[in-house]
Amino acid sequence: MFKPLDIDKGNEEEQKISEPTDVENVKCLIIGSGPAGYTAAVYAARANLNPVMYEGLQPGGQLTTTTEVENYPGYPEGVTGPVMMEDFKKQAQRFGTDVRWGMANKADFSGEKHKVWIDGKKLIVADTVIIATGATAKYLGLEDEKKYAGGGVSACATCDGFFYKGKDVAVVGGGDTACEESLYLSGLCRKVYMIVRRDVLRASRVMAERVKNTPNIEILWKHQVKGLFGEDNVVEGADLIKDLGEDNEKEVKINIEGFFLGIGHKPNSDIFKKFLDTDNVGYINTIPGSSKTNIPGVFACGDVMDSYYRQAVTAAGSGCKAAMDAERYISEKSH
Ligand code: NDP
Repeated sequence: MFKPLDIDKGNEEEQKISEPTDVENVKCLIIGSGPAGYTAAVYAARANLNPVMYEGLQPGGQLTTTTEVENYPGYPEGVTGPVMMEDFKKQAQRFGTDVRWGMANKADFSGEKHKVWIDGKKLIVADTVIIATGATAKYLGLEDEKKYAGGGVSACATCDGFFYKGKDVAVVGGGDTACEESLYLSGLCRKVYMIVRRDVLRASRVMAERVKNTPNIEILWKHQVKGLFGEDNVVEGADLIKDLGEDNEKEVKINIEGFFLGIGHKPNSDIFKKFLDTDNVGYINTIPGSSKTNIPGVFACGDVMDSYYRQAVTAAGSGCKAAMDAERYISEKSH
């Protein structure tokens, strides 16, 4: 079953890192393996930057948790996320990208060369770093989300929906992610409650209409989640509050077996924040029109710097920019 990525792990592990014995110098280090990272790898490899890529906790990135991708140009019949990412990887490797399993958990961008520690053991010293670490699903922050992790709580309908075939489930959120999750689950489950905190959906009109026209999706407007209940750490239902803070505020109980989060994402930028400018959510700021961060030689692409478009094709485009920016940076330095 899908387990949420531990986005704080990198920071915790940073404390434990001692002086590594394994040090490697590289021209171009790519961190992260979604569409942005792999596209950067294709371009960097073809430009003779000999890129080394660390895939991170979720090789292939968020697309590996989706089913059909219908809006990526070049696939007229659509393609599944995992197959598409395998194709991206093969293309990156075909030109010589050294793709490795491993997690970056500390960075030091204070010197001319950039240092990144991998799994607390290996130190990479890089002329250029391309950050393509993406974003991770957000949770509400309820104790019950931890208590019932693996027992009915999930942030990925396409990964876990199968386990809830014919059952009743709920999705929290009113954006495109929540709509997409609800629509996917409506094809598998008996009933899907969408728990929406306001009286409108934030989602695009087309998605909102689809949700509203799906008979087994019930939108619970102006409801918030108070907690979950169930024996033996297995979800049997959720306690909700309707019209929180209003005169007619009341508690509502729903019986569900699956509880899905669809409330947005958090950029995976924690280990870089000491050196890189970010916005207040943590998205890395880049110089408009480029992938350049405030540190020369460090570039960012994909969902870790893009809170707005967040599409595979825009991430891929920004990965291309990052590799071109890295190549130009290196060639300017050598002249
Ligand atoms: P959004 O930020 O767009 O939506 C988050 C939703 O979750 C909102 O309805 C928000 O409520 C709700 N929410 C946030 N925090 C809480 C909370 N603590 N309790 C209850 N509800 C909460 O995130 P998405 O991930 O949906 O989308 C992000 C971007 O990705 C968007 O630009 C979207 O268009 C795009 N996207 C496109 C898809 C597609 O085209 N197929 C699929 C998925 C995403 P409120 O509205 O009240 O703030």
